Amino acid sequence: MSQTLSVINPATEELIKEIPVDEPAAIAQKVKQARNAQPAWAAKPLTDRIESIKTFKNLLLERADALAAILSAETGKPITLAKNEILGTPPRIDFFLANVAQVLTPKRVHQDPWQAIPGTGQLEEVLTFDPLGVVANISAWNYPYFVGSNVFVPALLTGNAVVYKPSEIATMTGLAIANLLHESGIPPDIFVPIIGTGLAGAALLEQPIDGVFFTGSYGTGQKIAVAVAPKLLKVQLELGGKDPAYICDDVVDVAAVAAALADGAFYNNGQSCCAVERIYVHTDIYEPFVEAFVQTVQGFKLGDPTDANTYLGPLSRKPQLSVIEQQLQDAIHKGATVLCGGQQVDRPGWYFAPTVLTDVTHDMTVMVEETFGPIIGIQRVDSDEAAVALMNDTNYGLTAAVYSSQRERAVGILAQVSSGTAYWNCCDRVSPQLPWTGRNHSGIGSTLSTLGISVFLQPRGWHLKQG
Ligand code: NAD
Repeated sequence: MSQTLSVINPATEELIKEIPVDEPAAIAQKVKQARNAQPAWAAKPLTDRIESIKTFKNLLLERADALAAILSAETGKPITLAKNEILGTPPRIDFFLANVAQVLTPKRVHQDPWQAIPGTGQLEEVLTFDPLGVVANISAWNYPYFVGSNVFVPALLTGNAVVYKPSEIATMTGLAIANLLHESGIPPDIFVPIIGTGLAGAALLEQPIDGVFFTGSYGTGQKIAVAVAPKLLKVQLELGGKDPAYICDDVVDVAAVAAALADGAFYNNGQSCCAVERIYVHTDIYEPFVEAFVQTVQGFKLGDPTDANTYLGPLSRKPQLSVIEQQLQDAIHKGATVLCGGQQVDRPGWYFAPTVLTDVTHDMTVMVEETFGPIIGIQRVDSDEAAVALMNDTNYGLTAAVYSSQRERAVGILAQVSSGTAYWNCCDRVSPQLPWTGRNHSGIGSTLSTLGISVFLQPRGWHLKQG
């Protein structure tokens, strides 16, 4: 009998479903089928591939309620947030639909001036693009629609076959995505779901694939990079972060900034790669900032994810409770003050009360290691220079935010911080027009923007000489 994955509801700890996993032999067979089917998919007119993706987009909109219910049940994401994610995906898809043709268009980069005269050896240089072939998309659970579609939509549009390994925490959503794509006209051998844990992901990497596009933790990203290194594959890694925000003394409305940052830190229970994970506040506004921040956090409604008013649900993964507990105890032991939260919530499910810490330092793991949960440290600083030094004191480099009434001051600070994304007076936001890219331990490569389309292509340089 084949093994199964148990899908557990994080809010109730009840079993939702057992789903059979793909064994290595089945994975090998699926990759083979994708390999055989890919050339015909790439040979289709681009307009056909665009039509299928448009249909997929429309189905997402039509079925948002049902899809949100599935996502919420298996990850504990509150239903309103789950629906926000699904409805937030079509604008990203629109960007890819609008830009794929120009990325794929061959570019004539040089032509001899005497080209018009036949028989004179005129030379033309042209750049064209071929799909990579069969790509593996190994995905995370925290935003399965966003991080999945950032990869599989441009990969499919550019003529690749995609073997998609959704996270074991979002398997039902992964299967729902596959069904919608198939219903939209993407052949089953061109978008192929693989079900299982990290073992299935590792087995997929052993197959003859042409690229691996991964979203997940630094630890797994490193394992993947090592596993495929001998194959010299295209490897893209979208990894974690320890994203800092610095609040300058010149912000106009301290309370509004505090409220915005509380949302940036606690949205989706802090389970966002670009969640604000540490906050530095200029000493001149420190007290009012902290007061407004805690007040906002205490107003967040924690509860049943099926309730449309719930802002904080359970954590999606039970082991994360002990990560948070360890970081909290380490911080308390080293002198941190707990202003609110600080313990699990006494109810069924994997709930942790939103926690705000002050008197924190970089000796504490909570200020330097990714938490991925509802806990934040707020540290007082007395200068921009001190803030820059602390913001850079991390192995990660995903996003960084500065709040200030002066653009020049904020941009000057951000330019000194090593991060793929820089925010002035905003945080925790993603745009399809801009590359989503991490530095250092936050990853390699970019999704989104036109860079996130061309990454699924391999260039070919043509030197064409008239004989
Ligand atoms: P994870 O690393 O535990 O798992 C990610 C995926 O990798 C899963 O599908 C898992 O089954 C698979 N996997 C595990 N071991 C593997 C192996 N040895 N070989 C191949 N595949 C393997 O991450 P997660 O818990 O799903 O996601 C949370 C992490 O993802 C956080 O660190 C978060 O910051 C990061 N993340 C980053 C981005 C980004 O765009 N930078 C977006 C979302 C999440």
